[in-house]
Amino acid sequence: MDARPRPAPPEPDSIPLLTSLLVLFIAFTAMYLRTAPPAPRPADAPASAFSATRAREVLRVLVGDGAPHPVGSDANAEVRARIVQSFADLGYAPQVQTTFACSGTDQACATVHNIVVERAGRDAGPVVLVATHYDSVPAGPGASDAGVSVAAVLEAARALAAEPPAQNPVVFLVSDAEEAGLIGASAFVAEHPLAANVGVVVNLEARGTSGPSVMFETSAGNAWLIDRLAASLPRPVASSLFYPVYERLPNDTDLTVFKAAGIPGVNFAFIGGGSQYHTPLDRVGNASPSSLQHQGENTLAIVRAFAEADLSSPPEGSVVFFDVLGARVVSWPVSFTTPLAVLAFLLVAATAVLSWRAGGAPFWRDFVGLAGWVVALGVSALASWLWLRQMTGLGAWPGGATTRPALAVLAFWVLGLAVALLVAVIVARWARVAGAWTGCWLGWSAAGVAAAVTFPEASYVLIVPALVAGAAGAAGTAIRRQAPGTVAAMLPMATAAVLIMPSAWMLFEALGPQALPIVGTAIALVGTGLAPLAARAGGVRWLVPIAALATAGTLSALSLRAEAFSPASPERMNITLFQRAEEPRARWLLSPQSGVLPEALRLAAPFGAEREVAFPWSAAVAFSAAADPLPWEAPTIEVIDQGVRDGHRFVRLRAISPRGAPVMTLLLPRSRVVSISVDGRDVPQRPEGGVVRPSPRDAGPPLGGYTHHTVPSEGVEIEVVITGDGPLEGYLIDRSYGLPPAGAPIAGARPVTATLAGLGDVTVLARRIGF
Ligand SMILES: [Zn+2]
Repeated sequence: MDARPRPAPPEPDSIPLLTSLLVLFIAFTAMYLRTAPPAPRPADAPASAFSATRAREVLRVLVGDGAPHPVGSDANAEVRARIVQSFADLGYAPQVQTTFACSGTDQACATVHNIVVERAGRDAGPVVLVATHYDSVPAGPGASDAGVSVAAVLEAARALAAEPPAQNPVVFLVSDAEEAGLIGASAFVAEHPLAANVGVVVNLEARGTSGPSVMFETSAGNAWLIDRLAASLPRPVASSLFYPVYERLPNDTDLTVFKAAGIPGVNFAFIGGGSQYHTPLDRVGNASPSSLQHQGENTLAIVRAFAEADLSSPPEGSVVFFDVLGARVVSWPVSFTTPLAVLAFLLVAATAVLSWRAGGAPFWRDFVGLAGWVVALGVSALASWLWLRQMTGLGAWPGGATTRPALAVLAFWVLGLAVALLVAVIVARWARVAGAWTGCWLGWSAAGVAAAVTFPEASYVLIVPALVAGAAGAAGTAIRRQAPGTVAAMLPMATAAVLIMPSAWMLFEALGPQALPIVGTAIALVGTGLAPLAARAGGVRWLVPIAALATAGTLSALSLRAEAFSPASPERMNITLFQRAEEPRARWLLSPQSGVLPEALRLAAPFGAEREVAFPWSAAVAFSAAADPLPWEAPTIEVIDQGVRDGHRFVRLRAISPRGAPVMTLLLPRSRVVSISVDGRDVPQRPEGGVVRPSPRDAGPPLGGYTHHTVPSEGVEIEVVITGDGPLEGYLIDRSYGLPPAGAPIAGARPVTATLAGLGDVTVLARRIGF
């Protein structure tokens, strides 16, 4: 029995729902405009400012004729000379650190030439290190990766040169052999006298040619770094959510090396235009001047801030952080996350009690609302996943590529929104307005508590909207003595949109189609905030989700029809000419990104219809065609010395590429190798085992070893320490960039919508070795 007076149910009102959809659209527009990098500043910008127009002229000079300049190449030396000259022209005294070094990241060694430039401070240290790299991949000119960052460093160095010395010295490191496995940075950390005095590092990178300069990685104890960042960056794009995403990518940067050496730091990169990354299209004309402006502004601002910071004893503590539409960075200590989440939950629960006492819905309606919230998320996750499967089955996004990524992303955004609304409308019949509000925000804030414990870096997307909901709900209900109204529903929903949309927009660029179910579910989460508004709406509440479903279908159909590849957004398709010493003929190997053999290439060489295992030491597959035997001798080893030392057998070898290939790889059974050293330098052996998986055909043991870039013509001396009995068998492989003249017709048959990428076209010779 309940004697309290119950207000009559409110009249249906569709205006709040339609207004909320407008708010979502405004949030989307704001996100779209604010996550774009700023316009380049003109050449006559004040001398203290960063001007991308000035920096672009520097970039043009650095890139020169656009020849790829991997470590050890002649073009690498030319680019290095131009950078050294540019620093000298600014009044600096650049030095070149030349050394032979090995890195454990890719188990690779090279003779590297790092450019190191010091700017004195009022104190002797610690030093602010500003790092990027000048080497490119063999396939492209590296204008964006990392020429843009080198140009940004030079333009920032120009601005700093005109200023009186800051408290801390600044060291610019333009490293070599980053693309070959972070070898230059490893050499700096291991051997350069300045390395021991570095207090903080700012690393600059690119995984594309456009887009905002995103601060995506920091080190442990990042509270003080984010403090400085928040106070200095004019247009910050940063989130603690980005690092867990980046960790899932196969990419690595020099910051990995600095962090491993215990140096704290921040990492900036732009990732738009990823289809041009590491290809011949990474040229100056495709390098976005806005990205250069943003990367440079960030560099100059954060270097000035760190140069005046106390680096000798930075405070400890880590924070959860995010930017709000590029306007400012919000952060709180990780230890506050759970209390904040619990506070949000208590506020929402208090709202439910106050609302009930004010004559709102009975509690069972809240539980219906909560069940609706859970079902909405579950169904949208399932629908997004099934939709991705369906689209992929229909041939969408071959090799993860599309020339119109926005269509794919928007299709899943609208799908998520439609499913969330549809469930909300169905459940509204029982939950009513108050139950829909309470159920949604109870679920949301409970998820916030769970995320605070399990995934604090990302928990802010749940906790902040829940806090807004709890505060607006509790205050409104206490004052007005009735169930949460339109404002208490719209404010947290809009907050969620502002926080979630930027990541949901960029995730496809970072991860490809596999991100689409996450993207759809994330936007569905925003959509669940519409439940109380949909519960109030009239007949239009059915119309909106049905129209949204139709829109999602249309966007998907358009995405399906969009070209996967174009000359400006090409398919990755390297050609390898491969010969084993044990076989009479060579083979052409082709591995198109889409997995489809182009007709023109099938006509150019007798490629088989199915891909097969390409190399005996790897599980990689490729289309294969017979080729004439190569006129060169495969790489060879000669045992110089062997014996037993400290209970282990050691073998000293000389490995030579008779044809003078610049790169050699030695592969041996991983489990039997204790250590490998080259010219007296230890090659760090990663504990997780082989660097390559054996091919299923050979079914041998996992293989490991190292790759030697910059192989001298007389060969290299390698010492291998071995455990276990019996002879050791493995492979010696050499690699040169490009194809012999016989490859011209095949390379020429590559479609205009395809390109080389990364290592590009290579000629590889291999020999089975044993000792
Ligand atoms: Zn790079």
